[in-house]
Amino acid sequence: MIPYGKQSISEEDVEAVAEVLRSDYLTCGPRVEAFENAFAEMCGAEFAVACSNGTAALHLAMLATGVGEGDRVITTPITFLASANAGRYVGAEVDFCDIEPETATLGAAFLEDSWRDETNAVVGVDYAGHPADFEAISKVASERGAVVIEDACHAVGGRWKKADEEYRVGSLPWVDAATFSFHPVKTLTTGEGGMVTTNNPEIAERARLLRSHGMVRKPDKFQLFGTSGALSEVGDWAYEMQELGFNYRLTDLQCALGISQLKRLPEFIERRQQVVSKYNEAFAELELLKTPSIGPWIGDENELSWHLYPVRVDFKSLGKSKKQFAAELREKGIGSQVHYIPVSEQPYYRSEGVHFPNANSFYDSVISLPLFPSMTDSDSSLVCEAVSDLLN
Ligand SMILES: *Cc1c(COP(=O)(O)O)cnc(C)c1O
Repeated sequence: MIPYGKQSISEEDVEAVAEVLRSDYLTCGPRVEAFENAFAEMCGAEFAVACSNGTAALHLAMLATGVGEGDRVITTPITFLASANAGRYVGAEVDFCDIEPETATLGAAFLEDSWRDETNAVVGVDYAGHPADFEAISKVASERGAVVIEDACHAVGGRWKKADEEYRVGSLPWVDAATFSFHPVKTLTTGEGGMVTTNNPEIAERARLLRSHGMVRKPDKFQLFGTSGALSEVGDWAYEMQELGFNYRLTDLQCALGISQLKRLPEFIERRQQVVSKYNEAFAELELLKTPSIGPWIGDENELSWHLYPVRVDFKSLGKSKKQFAAELREKGIGSQVHYIPVSEQPYYRSEGVHFPNANSFYDSVISLPLFPSMTDSDSSLVCEAVSDLLN
């Protein structure tokens, strides 16, 4: 069975983790900063803050950019639940905005329809590895004083060039903070893990503080201790809690795996791009299938980092339901998945009479085919043949 996605772990990865097990620090040690520095360098960001998973990264990004109670957050319906839930964690209300129909990313043209006076943040998602049009999103958001967060969980290592400018996911000029996940289905894994990147030193400092209980360890940053009251005299043991934070730390074991995986990222991305090109070519002539589109805001698409390969199938004309199509793929040894059920239709978020037509019609046709770096040529050929068979 070829799964829709899968991690790739090398002997070097295993050795890197084993080395930490033999060392003094399993957590809070030197690998954390080393992973953060390597990650920041890879994506061209000033700061990177490692944390326990992609959901925690989104939560920290919300907290660090000051989104909270009384605010409203707009996100896209075509995403994983976490992009919306992070707004709820900080006590904000969540609204949705319809998608740009070709790339299934947040539709900047629909942002104003969903905007309310209290809207204070927009979370765009790099769906399947294709960056949302953050330039257009930021135009709407910054006019209204709202922050822009890039949920880049699908796009680690992605970049593109347009009009002599080079853009790297994780340091786009239009976003306040970007968030990543290192879950095993994602392009780079630490088991569980996440990262917040930003070029803003205050956002980075707050994310770092809130990742670990809101606890300050440097005496020169103390607000109270060492100056007055019962704790006017403090020593090396002292720490000061200035606000409510969390334990969202990433261990040295995970960071060592992350550092090792990061070295392999170019090879992962290249292999994913090869499979994407092969699929695009094999499926180009199929009338009932549409391969992933590239938005006009992307100039040179050649260096995008693909996490998923979602195709759109005209199931109605095919005379077959998506469920049946997936079952027939499975019979041929091919796994598939659906990304995503529109979050705006989930019972928790759904509101009577509110539907997003582009998102819902995207859901009707979309299905993700296998894409992972250890796919062999015969795996990808099998997918091409099986899909062509089912559609002819
Ligand atoms: C995976 C994912 C997340 C959540 O990441 P976790 O590490 O599983 O918490 C958030 N947003 C998107 C778009 C994702 O794909």
